[in-house]
Amino acid sequence: MFEYHEPRSLAEVTSLLAAHGEAAKVLAGGTDLLVQIRKGRHQPRHLLNIKTVPGLDQVNFAEDCVEIGAAVTLHDGEKFLSAYPEYAVLCRAMHSVASCQIRNRATLAGNVCNASPAADTVPALVVLGANVKIHGTHGDRLVPVDRFLTGPGRTVLLTGEVVSAIVLPRMNGGGGRGVFLRKARRPSLDLATANVAVYAAGESCRIALGAVGPTVIRVREAERLLARQGLTAATAAEAARLARSAAKPITDVRGSDEYRLDLVSALTEQALLTLAMEVRA
Ligand SMILES: Cc1cc2nc3c(=O)[nH]c(=O)nc-3n(C[C@H](O)[C@H](O)[C@H](O)COP(=O)(O)OP(=O)(O)OC[C@H]3O[C@@H](n4cnc5c(N)ncnc54)[C@H](O)[C@@H]3O)c2cc1C
Repeated sequence: MFEYHEPRSLAEVTSLLAAHGEAAKVLAGGTDLLVQIRKGRHQPRHLLNIKTVPGLDQVNFAEDCVEIGAAVTLHDGEKFLSAYPEYAVLCRAMHSVASCQIRNRATLAGNVCNASPAADTVPALVVLGANVKIHGTHGDRLVPVDRFLTGPGRTVLLTGEVVSAIVLPRMNGGGGRGVFLRKARRPSLDLATANVAVYAAGESCRIALGAVGPTVIRVREAERLLARQGLTAATAAEAARLARSAAKPITDVRGSDEYRLDLVSALTEQALLTLAMEVRA
């Protein structure tokens, strides 16, 4: 049994979290949390529904960033950002999560906070250089998405802290383009066996891998190679080999470690070749 709260401000959320510590859990869309409670993985005594906090369901465009409030669903996030081609990599990742029904409840922030190694939006957020905005009793702090995640189901959130937004840098017409690809056992309603996001802006190219390690993996050696030699069929193949070396997959019901290594290499090469065509177009 738990007590259900409908806080009306972030200050109320943080004071409830600080007061109840481990016994309290933030509830956003509930598409992960309610399943976990039913399986007995969490037994919170207090559930704090952040969808009742006014303003958290907004996407705010500022001069240097876009703040996606913690109650913005994957469906609405995709709808708001679809007019901006530089964020297409994130739109594709959001669209690939589960089903339309789930995307209408599930939030972008919840996908990050759940800290699943297979979360689809995480590699896309990492290649975009996104930050997590954390609100606590001492104010706000920003943490890059890859540093926010410390392991399966683990984040840097401290007692009393809540994520208030996901913050994307404004690309301001810099012409950046990205590609997100995933492979799962079936086309939808299954977590990815592996997923890959790539993003190029000017001379720089970023590559992030999901579901092939305890948290998202940046393939920095491949990124340096692409910055030095440019994106060609030959460098895409070499980058794919480097992605395979950087991955640290496990064997589970979704696939063996060897299969995931092959997958990550194939997805990386395909994503880079697609990106090369998009950049030229
Ligand atoms: C059938 C099914 C298929 C799915 N398929 C996919 C898939 O293909 N790809 C994929 O990536 N995911 C998939 N998921 C997982 C899930 O839908 C996403 O992870 C979802 O985005 C979680 O968001 P939520 O708002 O529902 O989070 P919730 O379930 O409400 O919360 C998840 C966790 O994050 C914490 N949390 C949430 N918001 C905050 C916050 N603002 N501050 C601090 N902590 C917070 C909660 O306490 C909880 O621990 C699937 C789920 C189901 C049930």
